[in-house]
Parts: sequence; C-alpha cells; structure tokens
Amino acid sequence: MVDLSRFDSLISLASFFSTDAKCKAVLRESRWGNEVACPVCGSTHVYERKDGRFSCADCNHTFSVTSGTIFENTKINLRKWFMAMYLISSHKKGISSLQLSRDIKVTQKTAWFMLQKIRSLYNQSVPELSGDVECDETYIGGKETNKHEWKKTAGTQGRSTKTKTGVFGLVERSTGSVVAKTIRDSKSSTLIHLIKDYVKEGSRIYTDEYIGYHSLKDSEDYSHFSVNHKMKEFVSGEKNHTNTIEGFWGQLKRMIMGVYHFVSAKYLQRYVDEAVFRYNTRALEEGERFQLMFSRSIGVFSYHDVRFAA
Ligand SMILES: [Zn+2]
Repeated sequence: MVDLSRFDSLISLASFFSTDAKCKAVLRESRWGNEVACPVCGSTHVYERKDGRFSCADCNHTFSVTSGTIFENTKINLRKWFMAMYLISSHKKGISSLQLSRDIKVTQKTAWFMLQKIRSLYNQSVPELSGDVECDETYIGGKETNKHEWKKTAGTQGRSTKTKTGVFGLVERSTGSVVAKTIRDSKSSTLIHLIKDYVKEGSRIYTDEYIGYHSLKDSEDYSHFSVNHKMKEFVSGEKNHTNTIEGFWGQLKRMIMGVYHFVSAKYLQRYVDEAVFRYNTRALEEGERFQLMFSRSIGVFSYHDVRFAA
C-alpha cells in the first residue's frame, strides 16, 4: 500500500502519480486491496471487463474504480483531481477557483465544480466537546459598507442576520477542536440547542454577555461564565475569555475575505467546514492532510477522523 502521507510537496505527488492509470491503480488498491468487492452486494465474485470496469457475477452490477467516490463519472483526469486535493489542503487560506484553474489547466467553471466536490469531504465528523468550551457566533457577508463591522457589542447590535449569515462556533480548549455551524438566527433556543448537541453535560461554557446565552445561567447541565468585552484587558492565566474561538473566526474571515471574496449563504457551510478542517488538522503535515482527504474521497475513514487534533 502506498503511504500517501509521504508526499511533502506538489512535485513529489505529481511525480508519483505520473499517469491516470497510476492514479486508478492506487485508488483500486486503497479501496479493495487484492480483492475487488461489489459496492452493491459486497460479493468478491467480480470480473474485470475489457473497458476497465468491473461486473459482479452475483448481482450483475457494473461499476468502476471511481464508483461511489467524488470522482465518479468525472471526465477530468484523476491526476488533476489529486493535485487539486493537495493544493486546497496545503494552502493555508484555501485556493480560489481562478487560481486552481490556472494551476492545473482546467476552466474556472471546472475548477469551481472540483472545489465544491472536494469541500464535500470536509463535512465535520464531530467529537463531543467537554471540559472548558468557548462558544460564540459571528456574522459573514452583508453590505460592503458593513463588512468590517463583524462583531460586536453586548446586546443585539451587530447580530442581525438580515443581510449576513450567522455562524455558531464551539471550541474545546484542551484539544483546540472546533465545531462550527451556520445558523438561521441567533435566538437563545437556537444557540442552546446547538450547545446541547455538541457539548457534554458537566462542561464549563464560556461566552460573551449576549442575552441569548443568559438561560445557561440556570442550566443544570453546564456551568456558564460570561466575558465582559468592555473590560478589554486580558489577564494572563485567566480562564474567563473567548479568545480561542475568536482566533478561529479570524482565520475563517481571512480565508473568506482574502481568497474567496464573496460566499453566498447557500454555500457558506462548506467554506466553514473547510476552515474547520484546516484548523482541526493544523498539527498534521501536508502529506498527512492529503492522506486524510484521500481516504475520505473513497469513503474510508482513517484514524485521524476519530479525533482530529489529538
Ligand atoms: Zn454485486
């Protein structure tokens, strides 16, 4: 089996995956090893046809090495797919469709399609967060003139979701694992619901003073600490802050503003997933990150998926 984590540069990746046939051979080996299995019935009574596809002797299903992967039915060379996966995961702020189109010689439309497909691999496998957990929301998009007024003052100012899309984020301090989800509103019920979904009971929750979090004060499930942002001064060693999640917001915004410029509400979750993936795999080497994406692209989950930043 090829160790995909050893690719430490685009040139080492491109040299190894020198032809489309090589890419297919590695896909085949990674998916099935020595025994090709039918994706429908699981049978290994499978025949390889002259056209390179496979037929199942038990259920007659015909399939290819890319069936059921993000590369299914693609007309784009697999070498370009693998390079695109490497590029998007190795660039710290992501890569625009325009840049990718130039780097791998495809149209911008094709590059956009590839990036969206690759982003679908980022959907978060979410561990339950516990211990000290910071929660916060941020707002993305909206009018040009409002773009720098991201956040925020206590109360409701700056939290309008009329022109912006909200994102709710949680981070477990001990591991630095982030979970972030787009939200339709910033009502207390919406935020508390998400906290219950992702945070283990008994955890300590740190938020700002937004009224939406006030009901946590009476919660039997969590201890709640709120940060007064008017008291700007941050005391070293002080636990009562939301600096970790704010650091993640900074990265998310730099990626969206700096590389993608504009993201519609419809696709925002995918970009958020991309930023979360990058953040949660920050301790991995380039090759390890590529290996993780590769295994997801063929629907196989590696140990890194169990706990990202462990
Ligand atoms: Zn079958």
